[in-house]
Amino acid sequence: INVIKMKDVSKVYDNGAVALDNINISIKRGEFVFIVGTSGAGKSSFIKLLLREITPTAGTVTINGYNIKNMDNHDIPYLRRSLGVIFQDYRLLPNKTVYENVAFAMRVIESPRRLILRSVNSVLDVVGLREKYKCFPNQLSGGEQQRVAIARAIVNNPAIVIADEPTGNLDPETSWEIMDIFQRINAAGTTIVMATHDKTIVDTMQKRVIAIENGHIVRDESIGGYGYEI
Ligand code: ADP
Ligand code: ADP
Repeated sequence: INVIKMKDVSKVYDNGAVALDNINISIKRGEFVFIVGTSGAGKSSFIKLLLREITPTAGTVTINGYNIKNMDNHDIPYLRRSLGVIFQDYRLLPNKTVYENVAFAMRVIESPRRLILRSVNSVLDVVGLREKYKCFPNQLSGGEQQRVAIARAIVNNPAIVIADEPTGNLDPETSWEIMDIFQRINAAGTTIVMATHDKTIVDTMQKRVIAIENGHIVRDESIGGYGYEI
């Protein structure tokens, strides 16, 4: 079953820049996919389409069965809830504790208090941060902040986790701690799509690799490597 499908997808920005040109891909439930490519290749536009931050100029993007261009407005919250998102710069709420940063994702969808307590504790265990639940983001290392962001991303059990350069600000050892968590989330059945410039991680993980250049998919290998010199 495909959780992500792009058919003949192009994205042309208002200034005429062609970011994506006739993209065709399918990603199945449970896959782990790296998106690689040089700067300006179209990776961010690809990720923004998955998050419905932009819509395609042409073609069809289907996420969890929703066509992102002509979906019902009342379905948009359900689409958002089925996606967990992780950024390079963590994007935690600075004035909230670790616990509250994660719980917030459940409060906005009005989950019952007892479910929130149980779910937040459970995902803090998954990322190894249960004992830091009272800390504020500025009391945590970069790797710990990213682990909070992962906990927040998975607390509502999304079908897909989308990570945009999640290890971009982290040293190699900390990056591997993050990848270890992604491996476990993926092993539990969650689809993971990760844009990255980290050659070592891509070469070591032996997962599917989609390479984008000049808005085109130039490579799509079920077990691939980074493929660029750094
Ligand atoms: P990457 O993430 O691989 O660096 P992007 O998707 O950001 O690639 O960019 C692909 C192309 O689209 C580039 O030529 C970029 O300049 C252009 N582009 C990206 N965002 C915009 C925008 N908001 N307006 C105009 N052009 C854009
Ligand atoms: P790194 O070198 O990986 O960035 P830090 O030196 O920032 O790590 O933090 C090391 C440990 O100390 C972490 O477990 C972090 O949670 C803790 N820590 C750092 N700053 C504070 C603080 N202001 N209050 C409480 N704990 C802190």
